[in-house]
Amino acid sequence: MSADPLAIARDLLRCPSVTPAEGGALEFLDGVLKAAGFTVHRMIFSEPGADDVENLYARIGNAAPNLVFAGHTDVVPAGDEKAWKHPPFAGTVAGSQLYGRGAVDMKGGIACAVAAVLDHLSKHGGKPKGSISFLITGDEEGIAVNGTPKLLKWAAERGEKFDHCILGEPSNQEELGDTIKIGRRGSLNGHLIVTGRQGHVAYPQRADNPIRALVKLIEALQGEPLDAGNANFQRSHLEFTTVDVGNKTVNLIPGEARARFNIRFNDCHTLDSLKALLEQRAAKAAGDFATGGKIKFAFKWEPSNAGVFITKPGPFTDLVATAVADVTGRNPELSTAGGTSDARFITAFCPVVEFGLVGQTMHAVDERVPIADLRALTMIYRKILDRYFA
Ligand SMILES: [Zn+2]
Repeated sequence: MSADPLAIARDLLRCPSVTPAEGGALEFLDGVLKAAGFTVHRMIFSEPGADDVENLYARIGNAAPNLVFAGHTDVVPAGDEKAWKHPPFAGTVAGSQLYGRGAVDMKGGIACAVAAVLDHLSKHGGKPKGSISFLITGDEEGIAVNGTPKLLKWAAERGEKFDHCILGEPSNQEELGDTIKIGRRGSLNGHLIVTGRQGHVAYPQRADNPIRALVKLIEALQGEPLDAGNANFQRSHLEFTTVDVGNKTVNLIPGEARARFNIRFNDCHTLDSLKALLEQRAAKAAGDFATGGKIKFAFKWEPSNAGVFITKPGPFTDLVATAVADVTGRNPELSTAGGTSDARFITAFCPVVEFGLVGQTMHAVDERVPIADLRALTMIYRKILDRYFA
């Protein structure tokens, strides 16, 4: 008899593992994986000022290659529970759907991976030809300092080698099989601060209004595209998110004006080259002012751990795409769109792709997954496993 992803998903949904609570979800996985012959490690990571968070690493087999399924069992809060058709932590099946917080993001995805692995093992004498691992964090939806980065570091320190990784985040847009994520854009937040000279509005010759300069600099930074994009990525994009002067006085030219912006950037840039490009563009625009050099600007960059990454299309992405096409009949797009995920940390250790359920109801009231999707995703993972270890 094959493993039932619906039963596993229901059990996971019944664990109230709202970040950073473990909620019994890792304990449940621990039991299932140990029974299948995995060696299971549970680690609690700490950081001053943050909640302790529990994580899990499980492996079966000692040989290479080591195929890793990654994910998170923590979920965002349910919000107003009365707004839900079915209680968010009951794992209710209604009609063709399974309801619950985490159904698609991403306990459902984890359930499919576990079911597929159990099936694969039972068809192959209980042992993989190489190794299969689960890298599961309880700290993805929060500030994520005690999750995947520390888990990866812990694993590297004990000599764990990863060959390929599948992260089961809900990668699909509309239908199961439409999208595999093979990379993500980086994200950088910056502040632009322009300093002028404060003065009376009636005597502007004695002042330098920084607002004029800030407007010019904003224009210059947004005016030209940051790049043209490439085969794997859309263009990088800069968006201003606030402009602040904070001046409450009607007859005062302010001394300083500030703006904040976010850039989602592709692999035409690194964090450093991007900062240099913006500084250079701002300097060029600032040089055009007839200000006698009295107006000064500066950038302040927020620390970012969201660099850009790409798993270049090749045999591994082909293997995943073919399995998706075989089960769903769809040719998945290899996408790098959307926000960041833990894949940005995993990519430093091995090639990683993201493929899971359909993201439409993630973080929403009545988060739910079609039971048919759970079965199809399990079949996709199963095909990936069979071919990877063929
Ligand atoms: Zn997620």
